[in-house]
Amino acid sequence: MMNAPRVQGKRRVGVMGGTFDPIHHGHLVAASEVAHHYDLDEVVFVPTGRPYQKAEREVSAPEDRYLMTVIATASNPRFSVSRVDVDRPGPTFTIDTLRDVKQIYGPDADLYFITGADALAAILDWQDASELFDLAHFVGCTRPGHTLRDPGLPEGKVSLIEIPALAISSSECRQRVEQGEPIWYLVPDGIVQYIGKRGLYQAGTA
Ligand code: ATP
Ligand code: MG
Repeated sequence: MMNAPRVQGKRRVGVMGGTFDPIHHGHLVAASEVAHHYDLDEVVFVPTGRPYQKAEREVSAPEDRYLMTVIATASNPRFSVSRVDVDRPGPTFTIDTLRDVKQIYGPDADLYFITGADALAAILDWQDASELFDLAHFVGCTRPGHTLRDPGLPEGKVSLIEIPALAISSSECRQRVEQGEPIWYLVPDGIVQYIGKRGLYQAGTA
């Protein structure tokens, strides 16, 4: 799959799903690296609606997460944001995300679903993998030195890519805000300001 020749007339579209609560530089570097590596024309970030796997914690309002994603990606002409998951009622399933994005971009787009390698293993565990593979190529992001091989996955449908070590997570950003610690440079400047303006992640506000 690596450096596969471009099929004439086909657009390569990355799909970066996430809670983005908040979006941080780990997400942005991962999208940028995958876009470069696979020669993607565009990466569409898709903030989840109500995340199925994170039901145990109160996730920020979809509109706040959507707006933060727009702010963080606005300066990159190849990055865009989709509302498909935010606008669909109920929990978000990757299969619905891919169906909706495919519908929007049409048959001339090849989709590359970008996700963390661990999240990827979970998705393929509990959703119908064969239908997912019909809709997209899957790219799992790993940290250097952390290899993940799954012999059960079909040839050519899943790739792994090493992302430069960025030990940034949304959880840590939220925790830092709650404890009054800075998040400058872990997230884009506009995200620091948006979080402050909306009072997100402060102690006592779930
Ligand atoms: P949380 O800490 O709440 O789990 P998160 O930082 O993992 O949040 P998500 O919105 O859950 O953020 O992640 C969206 C996608 O981005 C996931 O597939 C995740 O594996 C991937 N991702 C998250 N952080 C990084 C990072 N630092 N580098 C590369 N990919 C990342
Ligand atoms: Mg995570």
